[in-house]
Amino acid sequence: MTMNQTRTGRTFDLRTKLTAAFLLVTLVLFGLISVFANVLLEKQFEDYIMQQQEKENQAIVDTITSRVSDWGGIWNQDGLELIGVNALERGLMLRVINADGTVLWDAMIHHSGMCASILQGMAERMEAHDQEFRGGYTEQVYPVIADGQELGQVAVGYYGPYSYTASDLEFLDRLNRLLQLAAVIALLLSVVLGLYMARQLSVPIHRVTDAAKKISKGNLRDRIAEPSSTTEIADLTGSINQLAETLEQQDRLRKQLTADVAHELRTPLATLQSHIEALIDGIWEVDEARLQNCHEETLRLTRIVSSLEELTRYDADVMTLLRSRIDLGLLASRITGRMQADFQNKGVVLRADLADGLWVEGDEDKLSQVLINLLANALNYTPSGGLVQLRLSETEESVTVMVEDNGIGIAEDALPHIFERFYRADHSRSRETGGSGIGLAIVKSIVEAHQGEVSVESELGEGSRFFVIFPKKVA
Ligand code: ADP
Repeated sequence: MTMNQTRTGRTFDLRTKLTAAFLLVTLVLFGLISVFANVLLEKQFEDYIMQQQEKENQAIVDTITSRVSDWGGIWNQDGLELIGVNALERGLMLRVINADGTVLWDAMIHHSGMCASILQGMAERMEAHDQEFRGGYTEQVYPVIADGQELGQVAVGYYGPYSYTASDLEFLDRLNRLLQLAAVIALLLSVVLGLYMARQLSVPIHRVTDAAKKISKGNLRDRIAEPSSTTEIADLTGSINQLAETLEQQDRLRKQLTADVAHELRTPLATLQSHIEALIDGIWEVDEARLQNCHEETLRLTRIVSSLEELTRYDADVMTLLRSRIDLGLLASRITGRMQADFQNKGVVLRADLADGLWVEGDEDKLSQVLINLLANALNYTPSGGLVQLRLSETEESVTVMVEDNGIGIAEDALPHIFERFYRADHSRSRETGGSGIGLAIVKSIVEAHQGEVSVESELGEGSRFFVIFPKKVA
């Protein structure tokens, strides 16, 4: 599947999505804050203004009461005029009533024009602030009590239920402007933050995408080196690197195999070619020995092809181990039981020093293959009358398998190569014994897939000792 096929519908880049998300959150937040500010704050402010109004009313009543006391409990018309005009300047319309009910002073009568303009002005200001506002002339009546005697009443009139002064309105206005400023700053911040976060995320993702593209084009050496502090991106980077590693390893195996096969096929093919050409050209006469020679080379070719098939199967299989808990002791005794007859036929003694309960984690078929290949080699390269020993031992972390023979041994210069594919220590002898040089390569690849180790000690003419160490727990 190509990358484009996995896309469905319209796609947006991270930057757009994150910035849009941040913007949306900021807008919703500020919408909510504005509503709360306007509803709750204004309500509080209204209450505050009404309390202030009440205080002011009370202050005027107190002034009048104290003046009346000063006047000796008798109303003074001029004094009232002074107080009334003073109050009028602050938007309050007074009406003072004597104890007998006669009106002593009334702003509405004495200064009716000013009262009307005050009320008109207030109404205009309040309606300009809030079109829904419905207010009008409101009056509160307070008794005037001096020396425990009620001398009359003061009615304080004003524009109500409440009204804002110019500075009150300015305060509200400033608050709103501050909110708007904060909203603009927050919106800008959310865009900057959105872009920054998107960058933080998209840069490593782009890097991963680029690396993946390069890998898909065959640049298997490419790895993503930069670390990321985002767990998911670090995981993604790790998986891509792992993928590249596996692909590179498989690619190496494939190339190696092709090279090995070409190298292996070249010799028998060259021999066959030269033989047949000599026969065609009449340089050689067709006789049985020469035909036999050619036949042997074709047999060798057939063997190479079949071992190739086997090897391909193992290379593919080794990647997928069917792991379970295996008792290596039990497995070894089953295998030696099955191979006993082959040893007897050749006159080689197989001695197995085994105990049950040596558990490892692994693939039963593959582990059997390791033991079979090692024992078969020991049998192959040990002449009649020889001895092959199989011994198992364990430590806390691992189980060791040792296959020892007192056969022909391996030359020192051949030892480092015997685990390579198609490598045979002695070609002429191997031809007799039918080996194609892949048995130990298979052993090695299985053991390594189990995170184990394989090694060999040998001396030409004395015998060989193969060790395989399997960890009990595979990571
Ligand atoms: P082959 O099919 O030739 O046995 P292997 O990969 O199993 O292939 O072994 C590679 C070579 O290692 C053999 O050709 C042989 O020369 C040498 N070898 C392996 N096991 C032994 C052994 N037990 N004794 C002597 N030589 C051995």
